[in-house]
Amino acid sequence: MSIMLRSNENPSAGVDVRFPLILTLDANGTPHRWITWQHACFYYTKDQIAWTAGAEAFSVLGGYNRVSGERSRIVSNSIIAIKGRPLAGRGFGQVPPLNNRELFQRDRFLCAYCGTLVHGAKLTRDHVVPFSRGGRDVWMNVVTACRPCNERKSDRTPDQAHMELRYLPYVPNRAEYLILTNRRILADQMEFLEQHVSVQSRLHARGVR
Ligand SMILES: [Zn+2]
Repeated sequence: MSIMLRSNENPSAGVDVRFPLILTLDANGTPHRWITWQHACFYYTKDQIAWTAGAEAFSVLGGYNRVSGERSRIVSNSIIAIKGRPLAGRGFGQVPPLNNRELFQRDRFLCAYCGTLVHGAKLTRDHVVPFSRGGRDVWMNVVTACRPCNERKSDRTPDQAHMELRYLPYVPNRAEYLILTNRRILADQMEFLEQHVSVQSRLHARGVR
């Protein structure tokens, strides 16, 4: 597939929305982050691309050369490795930020107590060990819960509330976090990231997305 984009001075918002995000890796192939096509072009023009891995390529048309009259064009791959220091031990091992959006995605929108599929305003973040009992607001202590279960459990641990956890919390690694944060991942990007998702991830158990 090839998408032609006009990179003019004032790109419309629609172009940015349609254009998929580019997955960057470090030079060793460790997944790093999502960047926009503009950012990818920057890496290409600065000769910062170590190698590419994606099956998809996107052409971005730039301005006309005043002398030759030819139009510049950058072809960006869907997965690009950036030159520089390897991430392993730094970026990849970091605990990703905890947000409801990614938490609900991690838990596949299932209430940890009753197992029902939850939507919208009924989705809540439950602290397995409540704050009042020393629980913290971290990936390992939070699960998705429907509002009725959360209210029923109240300020108690699951044991105290006689409510059993149907699944256990875990910390998504960086590859899984990248999957959780992007709803429009291309097939080749997904395939690449899945290889880096830890075995404990629920992405493996339920099929992805
Ligand atoms: Zn529930």
